[in-house]
Amino acid sequence: MARYESSVEILKKLVAFDTTATQSNLELIAYIQEYLERYDIKSRLIYSEDKTRANLWATIGSDSCSGIILSGHTDVVPVEKDGWHSSPWQLTERDGKLYGRGSCDMKGFLAVCLAHVPDFVAAKKQTPVHFCFSYDEEVGCVGVHSMVKELDSLQYTPKLAIIGEPSMMQLIRGHKGKFLIKCTMRGKSGHSSYAPHHVNAVEYAARAITIIADQAKKIAREGPFNSLYTVPHSTLLTSLVAGGVATNITPDRCVFRFEIRNIPEHSSKDVLADMKCRIAELFSPEIKAQFPEAGFDWEMEFSYPGMAIDETTEGYHLVKGINPRVGDCVSYGTEGGIFQEEGKIPAIICGPGNIEQAHKRNEFVAKEQIAQCSEFIEKLIKVL
Ligand SMILES: [Zn+2]
Repeated sequence: MARYESSVEILKKLVAFDTTATQSNLELIAYIQEYLERYDIKSRLIYSEDKTRANLWATIGSDSCSGIILSGHTDVVPVEKDGWHSSPWQLTERDGKLYGRGSCDMKGFLAVCLAHVPDFVAAKKQTPVHFCFSYDEEVGCVGVHSMVKELDSLQYTPKLAIIGEPSMMQLIRGHKGKFLIKCTMRGKSGHSSYAPHHVNAVEYAARAITIIADQAKKIAREGPFNSLYTVPHSTLLTSLVAGGVATNITPDRCVFRFEIRNIPEHSSKDVLADMKCRIAELFSPEIKAQFPEAGFDWEMEFSYPGMAIDETTEGYHLVKGINPRVGDCVSYGTEGGIFQEEGKIPAIICGPGNIEQAHKRNEFVAKEQIAQCSEFIEKLIKVL
């Protein structure tokens, strides 16, 4: 509890920076950088291409053995126009709760990590601790990739990344991956009374969507399954469709979007490659010969990999030793999958607050959650 007050003080400052995703987070980053400098901790900034946003990576201790990453994103989702009972940019306490945009997702975790910096420094542990604070997580884990790449320069790969997304301070061992694909079907248009002389892109899209729906049913029937998830298998869903311009014109274009959310042990790449082939086969050689413009484009709009911690790893044992409250896997995505897939660093979710309160008006984190997180970090320092 020692650092509860300073955690809230810092959270107040962090919430006051409007770091809505895709906007600049540099003022918040400068604040953190300055704060760390007070304890002689140097930060490395890894900027976005346009230099308006940055990831911050700071290490407490030296790169003399495998360390622990404390990871969080600095951006928040946009504020809803109305319905807030107090300013989203001013941390406000009511009934044991701290209200403000990002209080739960996930500046609360960042604040607790920062509040404990004096303790990390004073403890002089051999195991280094890396703060990895990213930008633009909320728009598809955009920022973190370049920071994970930088981590390659470490001599010792970190043994664990703790992703402080709201989990009510439970250890969350995994989440599904997500791939969003935009598919554009191209046909041949003309007056609808000559329909047999054209290629109807909407009909081709309908057939492609049926392939996706059938694939979803097959997976639900045959698995693979993981009972730690509420929906215990990968899912596919077509969500948006747009095609045609008038009722008397054969549509030559139809765009639809679909997602696959895969359990980590199920390779979505294989599923997608197979479906792409089957959609291509919809266009017969005759159609292709007669209508060279007919076909389709397939574009991955965004993706993040699933996460699944290897429970035999040293890092997992370390955190389980100080926090035995293990939860089920979750349906929301985090940067954990990227640390795991691109950085080869085992990742786990553990952070203050309830995901139910994230991305909503009147977002809050319970004070008791900040206190619990502070206790967790205190225990972590002891076992490093
Ligand atoms: Zn988040």
